[in-house]
Amino acid sequence: MDTITFRINESKAHLDINRTHWAVGAGFFSTQQIRTRENKYINIVYDCGTNNSINLVVREVDKYVKYFTDEVDYIFISHLDKDHVNGLEYLVSKLKNKPKKIFYPAVSNSEILILSAKYHAIPSSQQPNVEILANLQEYFSSLAEQAVPVSPESNDYHEIIELDEPQLDNDIEPISSDSAPSPKVSSSYPDPIIDIWTLSFECSLKLSSQQNKFLNSLASELGYTRLIFDKKMLDEAFKQNIILKRKKELIKAYKSVGGMKNLNNTSLFLYSGIPPQNRRKFKVFRSLFKSCSWWNNIAAGCWTPEPGWIGTGDAPLQTQYLLNQFNNNFKDYKKISSIITIPHHASKHNWNNGIMNDLPSYSVYVAGANGLYNHPDSGVLKKIIMNGGIPVIVNDNEKNIFSSSVYIHIK
Ligand SMILES: [Zn+2]
Repeated sequence: MDTITFRINESKAHLDINRTHWAVGAGFFSTQQIRTRENKYINIVYDCGTNNSINLVVREVDKYVKYFTDEVDYIFISHLDKDHVNGLEYLVSKLKNKPKKIFYPAVSNSEILILSAKYHAIPSSQQPNVEILANLQEYFSSLAEQAVPVSPESNDYHEIIELDEPQLDNDIEPISSDSAPSPKVSSSYPDPIIDIWTLSFECSLKLSSQQNKFLNSLASELGYTRLIFDKKMLDEAFKQNIILKRKKELIKAYKSVGGMKNLNNTSLFLYSGIPPQNRRKFKVFRSLFKSCSWWNNIAAGCWTPEPGWIGTGDAPLQTQYLLNQFNNNFKDYKKISSIITIPHHASKHNWNNGIMNDLPSYSVYVAGANGLYNHPDSGVLKKIIMNGGIPVIVNDNEKNIFSSSVYIHIK
Protein backbone atom coordinates (compact mmCIF):
# COMPACT_ATOMS: atom_id res chain seq x y z
CA MET A 1 0.00 0.00 0.00
CA ASP A 2 1.27 3.48 -0.88
CA THR A 3 0.40 6.22 1.57
CA ILE A 4 0.16 9.93 2.10
CA THR A 5 -0.26 10.54 5.81
CA PHE A 6 -1.43 13.76 7.41
CA ARG A 7 0.08 14.42 10.80
CA ILE A 8 -1.01 17.05 13.27
CA ASN A 9 -0.43 18.23 16.83
CA GLU A 10 -2.87 16.42 19.06
CA SER A 11 -4.31 19.62 20.47
CA LYS A 12 -5.28 20.70 16.97
CA ALA A 13 -6.52 17.33 15.80
CA HIS A 14 -9.78 18.37 14.14
CA LEU A 15 -10.66 17.89 10.51
CA ASP A 16 -13.68 18.79 8.43
CA ILE A 17 -14.01 16.78 5.26
CA ASN A 18 -16.33 17.37 2.33
CA ARG A 19 -16.70 14.83 -0.43
CA THR A 20 -18.55 15.50 -3.62
CA HIS A 21 -19.42 13.30 -6.56
CA TRP A 22 -20.17 15.60 -9.45
CA ALA A 23 -22.96 15.18 -12.00
CA VAL A 24 -20.95 14.19 -15.05
CA GLY A 25 -23.33 11.42 -16.14
CA ALA A 26 -21.64 8.24 -17.32
CA GLY A 27 -18.26 9.07 -15.93
CA PHE A 28 -16.50 9.92 -12.76
CA PHE A 29 -15.43 13.16 -11.14
CA SER A 30 -15.03 13.01 -7.40
CA THR A 31 -13.42 15.54 -5.07
CA GLN A 32 -12.53 15.73 -1.42
CA GLN A 33 -11.66 18.74 0.64
CA ILE A 34 -9.99 18.34 4.01
CA ARG A 35 -9.94 21.41 6.23
CA THR A 36 -8.04 21.81 9.46
CA ARG A 37 -9.23 23.90 12.38
CA GLU A 38 -6.80 26.56 11.26
CA ASN A 39 -8.33 26.71 7.80
CA LYS A 40 -5.62 24.87 6.04
CA TYR A 41 -7.01 22.97 3.05
CA ILE A 42 -5.99 19.81 1.29
CA ASN A 43 -7.79 19.24 -1.99
CA ILE A 44 -7.98 15.87 -3.67
CA VAL A 45 -9.46 14.78 -6.98
CA TYR A 46 -10.18 11.17 -7.95
CA ASP A 47 -10.80 10.86 -11.71
CA CYS A 48 -12.28 13.53 -13.94
CA GLY A 49 -14.09 12.53 -17.09
CA THR A 50 -17.30 11.53 -18.80
CA ASN A 51 -18.57 9.29 -21.58
CA ASN A 52 -21.27 11.85 -22.32
CA SER A 53 -20.80 15.39 -23.56
CA ILE A 54 -17.58 17.01 -22.40
CA ASN A 55 -19.77 20.04 -21.57
CA LEU A 56 -20.90 18.15 -18.49
CA VAL A 57 -17.36 18.02 -17.16
CA VAL A 58 -16.86 21.69 -17.99
CA ARG A 59 -20.02 22.60 -16.10
CA GLU A 60 -19.12 20.51 -13.04
CA VAL A 61 -15.46 21.59 -12.96
CA ASP A 62 -16.61 25.21 -13.11
CA LYS A 63 -18.86 24.61 -10.10
CA TYR A 64 -16.07 22.85 -8.22
CA VAL A 65 -13.68 25.73 -8.82
CA LYS A 66 -16.34 28.29 -7.93
CA TYR A 67 -17.64 26.67 -4.75
CA PHE A 68 -14.59 24.86 -3.47
CA THR A 69 -11.16 25.72 -4.73
CA ASP A 70 -8.87 26.59 -7.57
CA GLU A 71 -6.00 24.82 -5.86
CA VAL A 72 -5.68 21.06 -6.04
CA ASP A 73 -3.00 19.18 -4.16
CA TYR A 74 -3.41 15.60 -5.32
CA ILE A 75 -5.06 13.98 -8.31
CA PHE A 76 -5.55 10.21 -8.43
CA ILE A 77 -6.39 8.47 -11.69
CA SER A 78 -8.03 5.07 -11.40
CA HIS A 79 -7.37 4.07 -15.02
CA LEU A 80 -6.97 5.58 -18.46
CA ASP A 81 -10.43 5.25 -20.01
CA LYS A 82 -11.75 8.56 -21.22
CA ASP A 83 -14.71 8.71 -18.85
CA HIS A 84 -12.15 8.97 -16.04
CA VAL A 85 -9.58 11.27 -17.61
CA ASN A 86 -10.95 13.43 -20.41
CA GLY A 87 -11.77 16.33 -18.10
CA LEU A 88 -8.30 16.58 -16.61
CA GLU A 89 -6.90 19.13 -19.00
CA TYR A 90 -9.88 21.41 -18.48
CA LEU A 91 -9.69 21.01 -14.71
CA VAL A 92 -6.00 21.87 -14.63
CA SER A 93 -6.57 24.85 -16.93
CA LYS A 94 -8.98 26.32 -14.36
CA LEU A 95 -6.57 26.05 -11.44
CA LYS A 96 -4.37 28.83 -10.16
CA ASN A 97 -1.34 26.55 -10.15
CA LYS A 98 -0.67 23.08 -11.40
CA PRO A 99 -1.67 20.37 -8.90
CA LYS A 100 1.24 19.23 -6.76
CA LYS A 101 1.04 15.59 -7.71
CA ILE A 102 -0.85 13.30 -10.01
CA PHE A 103 -0.85 9.55 -9.35
CA TYR A 104 -1.73 7.23 -12.19
CA PRO A 105 -1.57 3.48 -12.77
CA ALA A 106 1.75 2.36 -14.17
CA VAL A 107 0.45 0.14 -16.90
CA SER A 108 2.89 -2.29 -18.47
CA ASN A 109 4.05 -1.99 -22.06
CA SER A 110 1.90 -4.88 -23.18
CA GLU A 111 -1.13 -3.39 -21.50
CA ILE A 112 -0.47 -0.08 -23.23
CA LEU A 113 -0.53 -1.95 -26.55
CA ILE A 114 -3.81 -3.61 -25.63
CA LEU A 115 -5.29 -0.28 -24.60
CA SER A 116 -4.21 1.40 -27.82
CA ALA A 117 -5.65 -1.52 -29.80
CA LYS A 118 -8.92 -1.10 -27.90
CA TYR A 119 -8.97 2.64 -28.48
CA HIS A 120 -8.25 2.17 -32.20
CA ALA A 121 -10.81 -0.62 -32.50
CA ILE A 122 -13.66 1.24 -30.84
CA PRO A 123 -13.42 4.74 -32.30
CA SER A 124 -17.00 5.56 -31.29
CA SER A 125 -15.92 5.39 -27.69
CA GLN A 126 -13.69 8.43 -28.28
CA GLN A 127 -11.15 7.06 -25.90
CA PRO A 128 -8.20 9.19 -24.93
CA ASN A 129 -5.98 10.06 -27.78
CA VAL A 130 -3.60 7.18 -28.37
CA GLU A 131 -0.84 9.78 -28.31
CA ILE A 132 -1.39 9.92 -24.57
CA LEU A 133 -0.60 6.22 -24.36
CA ALA A 134 2.53 6.63 -26.45
CA ASN A 135 3.84 9.19 -23.96
CA LEU A 136 2.11 8.42 -20.71
CA GLN A 137 4.65 9.91 -18.32
CA GLU A 138 5.02 13.00 -20.49
CA TYR A 139 1.28 13.48 -20.63
CA PHE A 140 0.74 13.28 -16.89
CA SER A 141 3.85 15.36 -16.23
CA SER A 142 2.24 18.14 -18.25
CA LEU A 143 -0.73 18.13 -15.85
CA ALA A 144 1.01 18.42 -12.48
CA GLU A 145 4.23 19.50 -10.84
CA GLN A 146 5.02 15.84 -10.36
CA ALA A 147 3.57 12.76 -12.05
CA VAL A 148 3.88 9.56 -10.04
CA PRO A 149 3.20 6.21 -11.71
CA VAL A 150 1.78 3.74 -9.20
CA SER A 151 3.03 0.28 -10.00
CA PRO A 152 1.16 -2.88 -9.01
CA GLU A 153 4.49 -4.42 -8.06
CA SER A 154 5.90 -1.83 -5.71
CA ASN A 155 4.21 -0.13 -2.82
CA ASP A 156 6.92 2.20 -1.76
CA TYR A 157 5.45 5.68 -2.02
CA HIS A 158 5.15 7.17 1.45
CA GLU A 159 4.75 10.83 2.19
CA ILE A 160 4.06 12.55 5.48
CA ILE A 161 2.41 15.95 5.50
CA GLU A 162 2.63 18.02 8.67
CA LEU A 163 -0.59 19.95 8.86
CA ASP A 164 0.76 22.41 11.43
CA GLU A 165 3.00 25.28 10.69
CA PRO A 166 6.46 24.40 11.94
CA GLN A 167 6.71 25.41 15.57
CA LEU A 168 8.83 28.49 15.95
CA ASP A 169 11.29 28.25 18.73
CA ASN A 170 11.20 31.56 20.53
CA ASP A 171 13.58 30.50 23.19
CA ILE A 172 16.78 31.38 21.42
CA GLU A 173 18.27 34.50 22.89
CA PRO A 174 19.38 37.18 20.50
CA ILE A 175 22.92 36.67 19.37
CA SER A 176 25.07 39.61 20.17
CA SER A 177 28.28 40.16 18.32
CA ASP A 178 30.54 39.60 21.31
CA SER A 179 29.00 36.58 22.98
CA ALA A 180 28.18 33.04 22.02
CA PRO A 181 24.47 32.09 21.96
CA SER A 182 23.26 30.66 25.23
CA PRO A 183 21.94 27.11 25.14
CA LYS A 184 18.26 27.07 24.25
CA VAL A 185 15.77 25.79 26.78
CA SER A 186 12.29 24.83 25.73
CA SER A 187 9.79 26.45 27.98
CA SER A 188 6.85 24.23 27.06
CA TYR A 189 6.47 20.62 26.24
CA PRO A 190 5.37 20.35 22.59
CA ASP A 191 2.10 18.60 21.79
CA PRO A 192 2.42 14.99 20.84
CA ILE A 193 1.70 14.46 17.18
CA ILE A 194 -0.84 12.09 15.72
CA ASP A 195 -1.57 10.70 12.26
CA ILE A 196 -5.09 11.95 11.67
CA TRP A 197 -5.81 11.09 8.02
CA THR A 198 -4.39 8.94 5.29
CA LEU A 199 -4.68 8.55 1.57
CA SER A 200 -3.79 4.90 1.02
CA PHE A 201 -3.69 3.60 -2.50
CA GLU A 202 -2.49 0.77 -4.62
CA CYS A 203 -2.85 -0.63 -8.09
CA SER A 204 -4.24 -4.04 -8.70
CA LEU A 205 -3.19 -6.03 -11.69
CA LYS A 206 -5.40 -8.46 -13.49
CA LEU A 207 -3.27 -10.99 -15.27
CA SER A 208 -5.20 -11.79 -18.37
CA SER A 209 -4.48 -15.00 -20.21
CA GLN A 210 -5.69 -13.19 -23.29
CA GLN A 211 -2.80 -10.79 -22.99
CA ASN A 212 -0.39 -13.43 -24.22
CA LYS A 213 -2.64 -14.41 -27.09
CA PHE A 214 -2.98 -10.80 -28.09
CA LEU A 215 0.79 -10.24 -28.08
CA ASN A 216 1.41 -13.41 -30.11
CA SER A 217 -1.12 -12.29 -32.64
CA LEU A 218 0.25 -8.75 -32.81
CA ALA A 219 3.82 -10.00 -33.24
CA SER A 220 2.78 -12.20 -36.12
CA GLU A 221 0.70 -9.42 -37.72
CA LEU A 222 3.83 -7.27 -37.62
CA GLY A 223 5.93 -10.08 -39.05
CA TYR A 224 8.05 -10.89 -36.01
CA THR A 225 8.50 -13.93 -33.85
CA ARG A 226 7.29 -13.31 -30.32
CA LEU A 227 10.84 -13.46 -29.02
CA ILE A 228 12.09 -10.76 -31.37
CA PHE A 229 8.98 -8.69 -30.80
CA ASP A 230 9.52 -8.76 -27.03
CA LYS A 231 13.12 -7.65 -27.49
CA LYS A 232 12.14 -4.84 -29.81
CA MET A 233 9.51 -3.67 -27.34
CA LEU A 234 12.33 -2.61 -25.02
CA ASP A 235 12.93 0.21 -27.45
CA GLU A 236 10.65 3.16 -26.65
CA ALA A 237 10.59 4.40 -30.25
CA PHE A 238 9.51 0.97 -31.51
CA LYS A 239 6.66 0.90 -29.00
CA GLN A 240 5.52 4.42 -29.86
CA ASN A 241 5.59 3.63 -33.56
CA ILE A 242 3.26 0.68 -33.07
CA ILE A 243 0.85 2.63 -30.91
CA LEU A 244 0.62 5.53 -33.32
CA LYS A 245 1.21 4.01 -36.76
CA ARG A 246 0.27 0.33 -36.75
CA LYS A 247 -3.44 0.78 -36.24
CA LYS A 248 -4.42 -1.96 -38.72
CA GLU A 249 -2.28 -4.61 -37.02
CA LEU A 250 -3.39 -3.54 -33.54
CA ILE A 251 -7.05 -3.85 -34.48
CA LYS A 252 -6.47 -7.27 -36.09
CA ALA A 253 -4.72 -8.56 -32.99
CA TYR A 254 -7.47 -7.10 -30.81
CA LYS A 255 -10.18 -8.81 -32.85
CA SER A 256 -8.28 -12.09 -32.84
CA VAL A 257 -8.94 -12.39 -29.12
CA GLY A 258 -12.64 -11.63 -29.22
CA GLY A 259 -14.19 -10.92 -25.86
CA MET A 260 -11.52 -8.58 -24.60
CA LYS A 261 -14.17 -5.96 -24.20
CA ASN A 262 -13.63 -5.26 -20.58
CA LEU A 263 -9.98 -4.41 -20.33
CA ASN A 264 -9.96 -2.39 -17.18
CA ASN A 265 -7.04 -4.38 -15.96
CA THR A 266 -4.79 -2.15 -13.94
CA SER A 267 -6.81 -0.07 -11.56
CA LEU A 268 -5.89 2.32 -8.78
CA PHE A 269 -7.87 1.95 -5.55
CA LEU A 270 -7.88 4.83 -3.09
CA TYR A 271 -8.82 4.94 0.59
CA SER A 272 -9.31 8.31 2.22
CA GLY A 273 -9.91 8.26 5.95
CA ILE A 274 -8.51 7.88 9.44
CA PRO A 275 -5.52 5.51 9.59
CA PRO A 276 -7.11 2.23 10.84
CA GLN A 277 -4.69 1.90 13.77
CA ASN A 278 -5.84 5.31 15.05
CA ARG A 279 -9.57 4.92 14.42
CA ARG A 280 -10.42 4.52 18.11
CA LYS A 281 -8.64 7.70 19.01
CA PHE A 282 -11.11 9.82 17.04
CA LYS A 283 -14.71 10.76 17.42
CA VAL A 284 -16.68 11.19 14.25
CA PHE A 285 -18.70 14.16 15.30
CA ARG A 286 -21.10 14.24 12.41
CA SER A 287 -21.56 13.04 8.91
CA LEU A 288 -24.49 14.02 6.82
CA PHE A 289 -25.58 14.12 3.28
CA LYS A 290 -26.08 17.61 2.08
CA SER A 291 -27.89 16.68 -1.06
CA CYS A 292 -28.22 13.63 -3.18
CA SER A 293 -30.29 12.10 -5.87
CA TRP A 294 -33.44 11.41 -3.92
CA TRP A 295 -33.28 13.70 -0.91
CA ASN A 296 -33.53 17.40 -1.46
CA ASN A 297 -33.24 18.10 2.20
CA ILE A 298 -30.15 18.91 4.08
CA ALA A 299 -29.34 16.40 6.78
CA ALA A 300 -32.23 14.14 5.95
CA GLY A 301 -30.00 11.19 5.65
CA CYS A 302 -27.83 8.87 7.51
CA TRP A 303 -25.70 9.18 10.51
CA THR A 304 -22.52 7.47 9.50
CA PRO A 305 -20.00 7.02 12.24
CA GLU A 306 -17.41 5.51 9.96
CA PRO A 307 -15.59 8.26 8.10
CA GLY A 308 -13.61 6.34 5.46
CA TRP A 309 -14.13 6.48 1.71
CA ILE A 310 -12.95 4.00 -0.93
CA GLY A 311 -12.67 4.59 -4.66
CA THR A 312 -12.63 1.57 -6.96
CA GLY A 313 -12.56 3.05 -10.47
CA ASP A 314 -13.80 0.53 -13.01
CA ALA A 315 -11.94 -2.38 -11.44
CA PRO A 316 -13.11 -5.81 -12.64
CA LEU A 317 -13.95 -6.99 -9.13
CA GLN A 318 -16.08 -9.82 -10.47
CA THR A 319 -12.78 -11.66 -10.88
CA GLN A 320 -12.42 -13.72 -7.74
CA TYR A 321 -8.69 -13.39 -7.17
CA LEU A 322 -8.82 -9.66 -7.83
CA LEU A 323 -11.69 -9.34 -5.37
CA ASN A 324 -9.68 -11.35 -2.82
CA GLN A 325 -6.70 -9.10 -3.39
CA PHE A 326 -8.86 -6.01 -2.84
CA ASN A 327 -10.65 -7.48 0.18
CA ASN A 328 -7.43 -8.61 1.84
CA ASN A 329 -5.48 -5.43 1.26
CA PHE A 330 -8.38 -3.12 2.14
CA LYS A 331 -9.92 -5.16 4.97
CA ASP A 332 -8.97 -2.77 7.76
CA TYR A 333 -9.95 0.22 5.66
CA LYS A 334 -13.31 -1.23 4.64
CA LYS A 335 -14.29 -1.74 8.27
CA ILE A 336 -14.09 2.00 8.89
CA SER A 337 -15.50 3.22 5.58
CA SER A 338 -19.09 4.03 4.84
CA ILE A 339 -18.78 5.33 1.31
CA ILE A 340 -17.50 3.20 -1.53
CA THR A 341 -17.76 3.77 -5.24
CA ILE A 342 -19.42 0.96 -7.18
CA PRO A 343 -16.94 -0.32 -9.76
CA HIS A 344 -17.62 0.45 -13.40
CA HIS A 345 -20.72 2.61 -12.96
CA ALA A 346 -22.62 -0.26 -11.33
CA SER A 347 -22.20 -2.59 -14.28
CA LYS A 348 -23.30 -6.15 -13.57
CA HIS A 349 -20.08 -7.34 -15.23
CA ASN A 350 -17.87 -5.88 -12.49
CA TRP A 351 -20.04 -6.74 -9.51
CA ASN A 352 -19.54 -9.40 -6.89
CA ASN A 353 -21.41 -9.46 -3.58
CA GLY A 354 -18.02 -9.91 -1.89
CA ILE A 355 -17.36 -6.22 -2.56
CA MET A 356 -19.62 -5.55 0.43
CA ASN A 357 -17.57 -7.74 2.79
CA ASP A 358 -16.36 -5.90 5.90
CA LEU A 359 -18.11 -2.65 5.05
CA PRO A 360 -20.64 -1.45 7.64
CA SER A 361 -24.09 -2.61 6.55
CA TYR A 362 -25.45 0.91 6.18
CA SER A 363 -22.72 1.98 3.75
CA VAL A 364 -23.39 4.21 0.80
CA TYR A 365 -22.48 2.84 -2.63
CA VAL A 366 -22.08 5.58 -5.18
CA ALA A 367 -21.72 5.43 -8.95
CA GLY A 368 -21.85 7.88 -11.83
CA ALA A 369 -24.24 6.60 -14.49
CA ASN A 370 -27.13 7.74 -16.63
CA GLY A 371 -28.33 4.71 -18.55
CA LEU A 372 -25.47 4.47 -21.03
CA TYR A 373 -24.48 0.79 -21.48
CA ASN A 374 -27.37 -0.06 -19.11
CA HIS A 375 -25.47 1.39 -16.18
CA PRO A 376 -26.45 1.25 -13.38
CA ASP A 377 -27.59 -2.35 -13.38
CA SER A 378 -30.79 -2.74 -11.37
CA GLY A 379 -29.67 -6.16 -10.09
CA VAL A 380 -26.55 -4.62 -8.58
CA LEU A 381 -28.58 -1.92 -6.84
CA LYS A 382 -31.00 -4.53 -5.52
CA LYS A 383 -28.18 -6.59 -4.05
CA ILE A 384 -26.83 -3.52 -2.28
CA ILE A 385 -30.25 -2.66 -0.85
CA MET A 386 -30.88 -6.24 0.27
CA ASN A 387 -27.61 -6.10 2.16
CA GLY A 388 -28.69 -2.93 3.96
CA GLY A 389 -26.59 -0.58 1.86
CA ILE A 390 -27.71 2.63 0.21
CA PRO A 391 -27.05 2.95 -3.52
CA VAL A 392 -26.63 6.51 -4.79
CA ILE A 393 -26.55 7.10 -8.53
CA VAL A 394 -25.24 10.44 -9.67
CA ASN A 395 -26.48 11.16 -13.18
CA ASP A 396 -26.06 14.25 -15.36
CA ASN A 397 -28.69 16.42 -13.74
CA GLU A 398 -27.00 19.51 -12.44
CA LYS A 399 -28.81 19.31 -9.11
CA ASN A 400 -27.87 15.71 -8.72
CA ILE A 401 -24.47 15.93 -7.09
CA PHE A 402 -23.89 13.77 -4.06
CA SER A 403 -22.15 15.49 -1.26
CA SER A 404 -21.32 14.36 2.24
CA SER A 405 -19.32 15.73 5.09
CA VAL A 406 -17.54 14.39 8.09
CA TYR A 407 -16.12 16.14 11.10
CA ILE A 408 -13.66 14.29 13.27
CA HIS A 409 -11.81 15.21 16.40
CA ILE A 410 -9.71 13.46 18.93
CA LYS A 411 -11.44 11.80 21.85
ZN1 LIG B 1 -15.67 4.20 -16.43
